[in-house]
Amino acid sequence: MHTETATSIPFSRPAVTGREMQYVSEALASGHLSGDGPFTERCQALLEETLGTRKAFLTTSGTHALEMAAFLLDLKPGDEFIVPSFTFVSTANAFALRGARPVFCDVRPETLNLDERRLPDLITSQTRAIVPVHYAGVACDMDAINLLAGQHDVAVIEDNAHGLFGSYYGRPLGTLGALSAQSFHDTKNYTCGEGGALLINEPQFTTTAEIIREKGTNRSRFFRGEIDRYTWVALGSSYLPSELLAAFLLAQLEHRTEIQERHRTLWLRYHEQLREWADASGVQRPTVPEQCESSYHIYYMLMPTLDARTKLMTHLRSRGVQVAFHYQPLHTSEMGEHFGGRVGHCPVTERIVDLLIRLPLYPALSDDDQTRVIDAVREFHP
Ligand SMILES: *Cc1c(COP(=O)(O)O)cnc(C)c1O
Repeated sequence: MHTETATSIPFSRPAVTGREMQYVSEALASGHLSGDGPFTERCQALLEETLGTRKAFLTTSGTHALEMAAFLLDLKPGDEFIVPSFTFVSTANAFALRGARPVFCDVRPETLNLDERRLPDLITSQTRAIVPVHYAGVACDMDAINLLAGQHDVAVIEDNAHGLFGSYYGRPLGTLGALSAQSFHDTKNYTCGEGGALLINEPQFTTTAEIIREKGTNRSRFFRGEIDRYTWVALGSSYLPSELLAAFLLAQLEHRTEIQERHRTLWLRYHEQLREWADASGVQRPTVPEQCESSYHIYYMLMPTLDARTKLMTHLRSRGVQVAFHYQPLHTSEMGEHFGGRVGHCPVTERIVDLLIRLPLYPALSDDDQTRVIDAVREFHP
């Protein structure tokens, strides 16, 4: 077939806006390579202004932003936190590191987001936090989650690794919980290779966050000239990215509108052009509730059976189209079972992980290559 000679279409490619190397060169020339220099400041200011959050701290990863959140809540052994089983390990691991126990919640079949209807059964007097993940960039039902959390005096920490610049009733994702974690890993919409950001929406956390991020010292106050020497004041670690990474990231954040717009165009085209095929094939396309503007991070589909998914993946790879499935359930993982997770606890998660397939979606995916992906999908009949 003619497609056999065509080059392979990767599943994921990091966005490149053109300014990255210029900013990295400026950082090099400035001689300031460690953290919290002018590029870090500019990234943080951009996030604070565009999202309307109290304080943004760049971190070395999304995982580290979650670890900082767990640190700030002062979680201890005996505490519990609620996470979706269908997520990346860091959502649970960051809080478990402090000795707290994960309680796994199932997801909704339409959005694959934490099913808020199950929370009342999972909240106990030990629950300290709920950590919703806005899967694929579509908001969880945050009004319901925040209402319940408020009634039980439980903190809400958004894992917003997918959802930066998406919104919920017009409010930016990442500003809806007490704290939120963003990721700039190279599979995410905006990247510096490895990186993240913690957003502080409740100001009482700001001073402690600054100390935790600076090795348990008040060095940030010293740099601002507020004190004449800095010292060890609390437990902490080192969560600052280098200025080289912040410089790279600034270029991406400054071009966020173009990056997001390209994701949106590609996402909507998949959605429209695969509708008939999906309806005829028993395939479920993603649902975006009316109140949500997606970040368009992922285009996924749920195949009718595991066998159909396996065959579609083989079919697409034979046409040079690289695709991927996604998370394995946390509650039935080795660590999940150690924390009490069992088969049957999250039936929707257990079902959908075997059906899910993700299509290539990134700014460098050309219209022609997307057409090849769409044509190859439509050739397949489960
Ligand atoms: C990517 C991701 C993370 C972790 O981000 P890193 O920057 O890779 O540490 C956490 N949660 C979710 C849902 C993610 O997709």
